[in-house]
Amino acid sequence: MNWKRMVQILAGVAALVMAASLPVAAQMAPERPGIPGNPSQTGYASAMAKEAQGWLADLIRINTSNPPGNEQIAAMYIAGILAKEGIKAEILDLMPGRSAVVARLRSAAMADPSKALLLVAHLDTVPVDKSRWSVDPFGAVVKDGYLYGRGAIDDKGMLAANLAVFISLKRSMAHLNRDVIFLATADEETGGDASIRMLIAKHWEKIAAGYAINEGGNVFLKNGKVQYTGVQASEKVAFNVIARGTSGHASQPTKDNPVVHLAAAVAKIGNYSAPVHLTAIVKRYFEGLAPLEDDEIGKWIRSMDSADRGEHAQRVWRTT
Ligand SMILES: [Zn+2]
Repeated sequence: MNWKRMVQILAGVAALVMAASLPVAAQMAPERPGIPGNPSQTGYASAMAKEAQGWLADLIRINTSNPPGNEQIAAMYIAGILAKEGIKAEILDLMPGRSAVVARLRSAAMADPSKALLLVAHLDTVPVDKSRWSVDPFGAVVKDGYLYGRGAIDDKGMLAANLAVFISLKRSMAHLNRDVIFLATADEETGGDASIRMLIAKHWEKIAAGYAINEGGNVFLKNGKVQYTGVQASEKVAFNVIARGTSGHASQPTKDNPVVHLAAAVAKIGNYSAPVHLTAIVKRYFEGLAPLEDDEIGKWIRSMDSADRGEHAQRVWRTT
């Protein structure tokens, strides 16, 4: 199977799982964004989408709010699904109750890490304040054609999609020209002692790959058709703001208290509006995006770096 085809399958299955596989309500309301009915999704793809939707619902029902995570139960659930397909998965225990799970489809007797493709997603979710939810966040409730649940988007949808791609490759006995590795990680949300840092430190040989597909990009659908597959080219970088001074006490406020300086710095950052700077990649992105948007938005996207209308275009884009 060639590379392009594999990416197409991934995009297609991801799109199906995340947006097009909740059938009845979707077909009755094709104008709804997100979950349109798509008559072209027939046969194997729609059957697989249904299966993946079941895995997604099960994964949502397993509470992996981090902290504490408790990802081991979800890791074992996935290992169980893979075992039924004849794929041997390995549970990698990182901390008590916290595990990742990894599996590999081989293309040759000897793995070539520089060629391997890694499909990675995380098992944990951010915590939840149940009082602010209209449905049970761990109930995997389907309402109005949407599946609701903590982690449905971040990142259990991708997890189920990756699983669907991986299992599809196995079932179809695809002739792989590279190893494909499935990895579900723990502790992504807080990046602590059960996170991918530990996997890299302890189990590098099991996950080393030439290419990795991770969360960050997205597949954009319109009326059930994939418009584009977003690829993230870079990652935001964090900077620390450090203030130094004399620590205070309620009875003795100090003039050089670092907290006061820090507050002033944070306020300054809050008021700062970064100038728009279109790099070559961003420019290319907008060029590709403009024809896919409606005429009005497309027009402003094309004007983004024009001398006279650029500033207004940037404001329009920021509020779109
Ligand atoms: Zn995430």
